[in-house]
Amino acid sequence: MGGTSGTIPAGAPRVAIVGGGIGGLAAALCLRTAGIDATVYEQADGIVAAGAGTTVTPNAVRLLRRMGLAEEFERRAVRLEQGWEMRRWETGEVLFVQEMGERCREMYGEPCYTAHRGDLLGVLAGAVPSETLRLGATVTEVADESDRVRLTVQTRAGTETVIADAVIAADGMRSTLRETVVAAADPEFSGDSAFRCLIPAEKVPAFARRPVQTLWLGPGRHFVHYPVSAGRLINIVAIVPAGEWREESWIADGRVADLVAEFDGWSPRLGELIGAVTAVKRWALYDRRPLPRWTRGRFTLLGDAAHPMLPYYGQGANQAIEDAAVLALCLRDVAPGDLPAALLRYEEIRRPRASRVQEMSHGKREVNHMPDGPAQRARDAGFAGRSPLAANAWVYGHDAEAEAHGFLAGQPA
Ligand SMILES: Cc1cc2nc3c(=O)[nH]c(=O)nc-3n(C[C@H](O)[C@H](O)[C@H](O)COP(=O)(O)OP(=O)(O)OC[C@H]3O[C@@H](n4cnc5c(N)ncnc54)[C@H](O)[C@@H]3O)c2cc1C
Repeated sequence: MGGTSGTIPAGAPRVAIVGGGIGGLAAALCLRTAGIDATVYEQADGIVAAGAGTTVTPNAVRLLRRMGLAEEFERRAVRLEQGWEMRRWETGEVLFVQEMGERCREMYGEPCYTAHRGDLLGVLAGAVPSETLRLGATVTEVADESDRVRLTVQTRAGTETVIADAVIAADGMRSTLRETVVAAADPEFSGDSAFRCLIPAEKVPAFARRPVQTLWLGPGRHFVHYPVSAGRLINIVAIVPAGEWREESWIADGRVADLVAEFDGWSPRLGELIGAVTAVKRWALYDRRPLPRWTRGRFTLLGDAAHPMLPYYGQGANQAIEDAAVLALCLRDVAPGDLPAALLRYEEIRRPRASRVQEMSHGKREVNHMPDGPAQRARDAGFAGRSPLAANAWVYGHDAEAEAHGFLAGQPA
């Protein structure tokens, strides 16, 4: 990669990307830089900057840098100085903290950031040529036509038919196009829900404004906070038992009183932070296990459509960016007739790793939510001497493009 989107040569393959989230936009940028005529179809009338915070880890930062976006991203994000600051629910005692700043760069060549999803999306959208992005365009159907794919696209002006050489479904966690590749399956309810909100930095206690990712651990729930948007906003995510809440939507409103009640009796310092919350979103957490395949013919999945994951590992956006970079390497210089084989190579490279990250996200829940007692005390004692940065080397140290180059070099021409 390098620079933003390049000139598209005549006769380049036409690729339709369904969904203009982080995955779809990153894919458009990477594909166009690789000389592929990629167009994004996004159902919303504008780029949906909704959402709250997300972590952007070195494995994705190195790819953003190669896309030429790291500096702009850094201006809009927060570079973490410390992370995994674990605090005890009742007293606020710091059980553990990991130095992140220079240590992260030394170990993985890039820092770790926290960002508002909208800020990351804005950086990607700003680099994609406007004619590449069709807004207010919902893809309602895709159909194979021997050597091409026909898409039905609904816009305000009516129904359009689009012909493409390949389709990338980047239509998110609740992807409907996924069923083009695999049988429909109900997700598993995790039993938890997440409250999310953003608070202006000037309204929160000073400890919450530090460039630190903090986790308060307590029985059956945990509470996370960190600054985003160059420190102007503080992101809060509180994972609690779902009770009757079943709505799986990033934009559903929750009740502040319910959030307050969930953390009744916790440290007064945390109470002070919760006291600054005036509105919350709430979404039920559903788990989806790794898919057995991502690709069928000229059709493949990318981002949350391919590997939706519980948020415990903070890798949703990062894995989508890795997908985008690898997809572009696999499709570069490929003739339209060879796209199905190239899409399979993309899947072969990406599916094992993304599935592993999905499984890891699934396994994180128990540890954070232990009730007080011997197991919790053993957990807290075990934090000493740990290095989550080192333990996560396989995630943060990964160079998705280097892996793809290695894989593709070993393929017969
Ligand atoms: C509104 C929203 C808020 C979010 N908030 C957070 C957050 O606070 N923290 C966090 O870690 N993650 C958040 N996420 C998820 C996070 O963005 C993803 O995990 C990750 O970035 C991978 O994104 P994606 O591009 O694969 O999918 P998504 O970001 O879900 O994007 C999918 C896109 O596809 C579009 N789409 C769906 N169906 C069609 C169709 N048929 N035709 C055309 N377009 C279609 C959707 O409108 C959406 O823009 C949010 C996602 C959304 C959609």
